[in-house]
Amino acid sequence: MAGKRVLVLGGNFGGLTAALAVRHELGRDVDVRVVSMSDEFVFNPSLIWLPFGKRRPSDLTFPLAATFEAHGVNFVKGEASAIDLTGKSVDTTAGNYSYDYLVIATGYRNNFSVVPGLGPNGNAYTITTMNDAIQAGEGWRKFLNHPGDIVIGASQGAGCFGAAYEYLFNVSHQLRKAGLKSRVKLTFLSSEPFLGHFGIGGLPHGESLLGMFLKKERITPIVNMSIDHVDEGRMVLGDGQALDFSYAMVVPPFVGQDFLKAMPELADDKGYVRVRDTYQSESYDDVYAVGIAAQVNVPWQTAVPVGVPKTGFPTERMAHVAARNIAAQIKGEPLVSHEAFGDMPAVCVMDAGNNGVIILADKALPPRGHGILIPGPQAHAMKLAFEKYFIWKARHGYVGLP
Ligand SMILES: Cc1cc2nc3c(=O)[nH]c(=O)nc-3n(C[C@H](O)[C@H](O)[C@H](O)COP(=O)(O)OP(=O)(O)OC[C@H]3O[C@@H](n4cnc5c(N)ncnc54)[C@H](O)[C@@H]3O)c2cc1C
Repeated sequence: MAGKRVLVLGGNFGGLTAALAVRHELGRDVDVRVVSMSDEFVFNPSLIWLPFGKRRPSDLTFPLAATFEAHGVNFVKGEASAIDLTGKSVDTTAGNYSYDYLVIATGYRNNFSVVPGLGPNGNAYTITTMNDAIQAGEGWRKFLNHPGDIVIGASQGAGCFGAAYEYLFNVSHQLRKAGLKSRVKLTFLSSEPFLGHFGIGGLPHGESLLGMFLKKERITPIVNMSIDHVDEGRMVLGDGQALDFSYAMVVPPFVGQDFLKAMPELADDKGYVRVRDTYQSESYDDVYAVGIAAQVNVPWQTAVPVGVPKTGFPTERMAHVAARNIAAQIKGEPLVSHEAFGDMPAVCVMDAGNNGVIILADKALPPRGHGILIPGPQAHAMKLAFEKYFIWKARHGYVGLP
């Protein structure tokens, strides 16, 4: 076992959990190294609050090096650009690193190309990265000086619907606080076939509950709809109708990193690594992928394409499955851990400003035994508490905690 090298690409939810879980499984006999483009952990679920000044970037981040070093994991800031699958090494901007086992946890990039007018210097904001959320906040402050109508949406191919709903309800809450609620028309636009589909096929009573929430907040929904393009102050939809706005935020689809997209033997055309339920690559036993970097197939097709939300909870579970299997491989034992994405429980808290919804289901994807949505102010309190707990847990590297 001594001297085996585990190389992890990416240091956020998936990479941090996988690297530290391998270290905890095998102790100090194994050499664990993380190479990540960002040298900070970013707690993306709280990006929904950043534009309103409820959080600062420093509230949602911590430096990775200290956490990894405290657990005997070598951390390198660098960007992976190519993997040599036969020579078992990875080219990065910080050098070339060899591995015996590789974990790919390089997450997502925004894919703005699906809608002309989205993206940097485009005509609508997004909140899916720290920089995006900072800009969405600058836009929000300008909006407060010149209020008008608002469109919040999730484009065709988007999968992170929870963030779009959370931002929508937080915008509604902020409008009320600013005394603007009655003056601003708020429209929610989604590629989902129905409200509350969430990219996971919906949950019992989800559509009616979301419908009630939107009605109460006087939000106009448009579902099953694509966006054709976004001009300055005007969004043109797939059916030709135009929505004028003073402020718009659109969640775009995610894709995997380009260096993976360039490896068809490993990844699909979106750059997601094809995996088994062990989180090993379909073709390479020594290569794993976890979190958003792992491909997930869904058992449906929708009129307007929707993606699947690979949230933090399944990302951590995938990382633990991968870590247990790497430990087994290193010890020369049979693989012990199997868990398909669709069979993992769904656990999510959707914030609505001062209210929210707790989403629980026995399986992420149908067919399910049960699923439930629990609305109420306790969901908002839970999200606040969860943020503090999770950042504390990750910063200290306590990845064995739930
Ligand atoms: C706005 C928003 C709200 C969300 N809300 C929730 C929520 O409420 N609950 C929930 O469970 N989930 C939520 N999610 C989803 C959650 O953030 C993801 O599940 C999680 O980020 C996935 O982690 P990951 O490690 O797979 O990928 P990422 O978080 O994308 O991390 C990828 C890491 O890889 C690094 N990297 C990228 N490319 C390279 C490269 N070439 N070489 C080396 N390193 C690289 C990056 O710097 C980063 O550190 C939300 C996401 C967003 C965007």
